[in-house]
Amino acid sequence: GFNKEEVFVGVGSDDVLAVAFMTFFNGKKPIFFPDITYSFYPVWAELFGIPYEKKVVNAAFEIQKEDYYAENGGVVFPNPNAPTGAFLSLDVVEDIIKHNQNVVVIVDEAYIDFGGDTAKELTRKYDNVLVVQTYSKSRSLAGLRIGYAIGNKELIKAMKTRKKIIETREWFQIEMRKIGFNFADSKANFIFATHERVPAKEIFEAAKKAKIYVRYFGQPRIDNYLRITIGTRKEMETLLDFLKEFTAQ
Ligand SMILES: *Cc1c(COP(=O)(O)O)cnc(C)c1O
Repeated sequence: GFNKEEVFVGVGSDDVLAVAFMTFFNGKKPIFFPDITYSFYPVWAELFGIPYEKKVVNAAFEIQKEDYYAENGGVVFPNPNAPTGAFLSLDVVEDIIKHNQNVVVIVDEAYIDFGGDTAKELTRKYDNVLVVQTYSKSRSLAGLRIGYAIGNKELIKAMKTRKKIIETREWFQIEMRKIGFNFADSKANFIFATHERVPAKEIFEAAKKAKIYVRYFGQPRIDNYLRITIGTRKEMETLLDFLKEFTAQ
């Protein structure tokens, strides 16, 4: 019942969580998750340098919704929780989402098919909730590595890098032509460019000194060309600033 634009598919839900953490949990404020929970959350947080705070579940291992009212950089919890199996009712899930409208709340539903109610429908009502599910548990297909997230189309769009790379490439090509680079229009995630005046080898070596790495092949016929991979907008701006200055000399 969801559109393609509302679904992100990844290599198991661990991968989906990783992409979601990198996309949405990149501020300075700590993300919140329960102290007793899925062991991968602190692993991803540490790997990506995301600050986090663990919220203590009560003696019955229940998540206390009020713990999630404080300012934070995002919220993630499994429902049902692992390894406890404790389920949070949908009104409590909604209450946590309501109290965190300016961050993303990830509801990890790895075990949802064993009896709990899914929060999927809440993604139509709130644009800050991501519901993550997997083929690994109820469908017994862990080896296939299929996990997915359902959410508002703007959230899902942010998790997909392909469109962003195309946008950056289109902008980058225009800017590069302005400073004297020639190249065929690219339909890949790189451009293959030559400068009208400055030899590719010189650009390559100077860029390397500036810790900017592009590819130079030094082979017959292409020894005046650089293959430049499209990175983030910020990376490409750094490269452009460098090239503007270097080719102006
Ligand atoms: C098993 C599990 C996952 C990840 O499973 P994948 O095989 O990567 O889809 C994610 N969250 C929880 C809570 C899990 O138990």
